[in-house]
Amino acid sequence: MPLGWGDLLLWAGLGALAGLGISALADVLPYGPAAARRCPRCRTLRSWREYAFNLRPCPHCGYRAKRPWLLMALTAALTVFLRVEPTKLSFGWLWPLTLYFLLLAVIDLEHRVVLPELLAVGLAYGVALGVVRRGWVVTLAGVAAGAALMLILYGLGRLLQRRLRAAEEPLGFGDVLLMAVLGAVLGWPGVLAGLVWGILLAGAFSLLLLAVCALRGRGWAGGVYLPYAPFLLAAAWGLLL
Ligand SMILES: [Zn+2]
Repeated sequence: MPLGWGDLLLWAGLGALAGLGISALADVLPYGPAAARRCPRCRTLRSWREYAFNLRPCPHCGYRAKRPWLLMALTAALTVFLRVEPTKLSFGWLWPLTLYFLLLAVIDLEHRVVLPELLAVGLAYGVALGVVRRGWVVTLAGVAAGAALMLILYGLGRLLQRRLRAAEEPLGFGDVLLMAVLGAVLGWPGVLAGLVWGILLAGAFSLLLLAVCALRGRGWAGGVYLPYAPFLLAAAWGLLL
């Protein structure tokens, strides 16, 4: 039975609310509640009322945060899309996973970290999902393959870093653990497709960035950090649709 307008509106509202939750978690989880209350621009420690999920302008400097609004719009749209579109994975499994992926991506983009606690939660959810869909063997093979392949890439990245005497690691160890989580979700051999698509997406984005730099008449800003987690997450999400 197709969903009526009332249902879609309800899901859009729930999606927006979930987006606000993700935004709040992305404020609180990396450095704690006190850090979340600090204004991103003027660094004043605001009261909880002044913080208000960063939905209102900062009363001290007038800074308006865009992230909560953007996230709410994005999650509302994604939620309605998942409700309407038939997907490989059922809505009940895919919706929480989508929100979780978004939270990881936002924190990685803003703080360049993949939090171990969040990965532990994701691993538990991913293994439960994998076992229900495909059984233990395929799921654990996915976890092992995801971690092992990413560990090899991580090692190669470290070698390259030493050769080039670069300050930053091209790949973080968090990416290795993230690939274990995605391995549980995708199973074996799905995890291979996830990794290849993730690398291709990241590569395509780098080329685009290079082209934009060249068009603007500026050289390549060497050593620009490219977070891999959002690309890996996007690839895995696409494969689950
Ligand atoms: Zn401020």
